[in-house]
Amino acid sequence: MGGTFDPIHLGHLHLIKEISNKFEKVLVIPSGKPWLRENPPVASAEQRFQMVDLAITSMGLSEKVEVLPLEVRRAGNSYAIDTVAELKLIYPDTNFTLVLGGDAAKDLNKWHRAKELMEAVKILVVKRGGAPVSDFDEISIKALDISSTMVRQSIAKRENVSNLLPAKVVSFIREFGLYGSR
Ligand code: ATP
Ligand code: MG
Repeated sequence: MGGTFDPIHLGHLHLIKEISNKFEKVLVIPSGKPWLRENPPVASAEQRFQMVDLAITSMGLSEKVEVLPLEVRRAGNSYAIDTVAELKLIYPDTNFTLVLGGDAAKDLNKWHRAKELMEAVKILVVKRGGAPVSDFDEISIKALDISSTMVRQSIAKRENVSNLLPAKVVSFIREFGLYGSR
């Protein structure tokens, strides 16, 4: 599962927990430079990686879930097809499934070398409120109505976000004054 994770929130973590019951292992890979997004991320690639790592550890998910720095340490735009090529070297003889929310799936045909990517991995789409039905395999997990955009806005307004993300991530955000928290 990839994402910008700017920042990671309980909606992502709920999804990760659900899919961890369906797969042998879940690899969470924060994007380094998500070139398709309208605006660049607010937090740095390294900070987003660290927040994901903190969240997975503090939620007790580390046994089944691994956070990989493949994209945040790679120079240039982050392309899933490059990540899949690297993963196939690290984990030979493995069938990979790319898990993404319905909102992300609707843009999949715009991804770099999209056709090759869809041939290299299975795609699994998680229904998310408001997103259209896709042509891919879909699962319903009762997605939580939380987005990083909503989290960033709440933090900027000095609202209490303890019901949106893990306490450790909130502390990290405060420590670095991210999203207007300082
Ligand atoms: P932003 O508002 O900045 O776009 P986001 O909450 O959509 O943030 P992303 O990092 O863009 O988070 O999403 C990473 C992946 O997680 C995408 O595939 C997205 O569809 C999925 N996702 C995000 N939030 C949820 C949620 N609440 N439930 C299920 N899937 C989610
Ligand atoms: Mg998004």
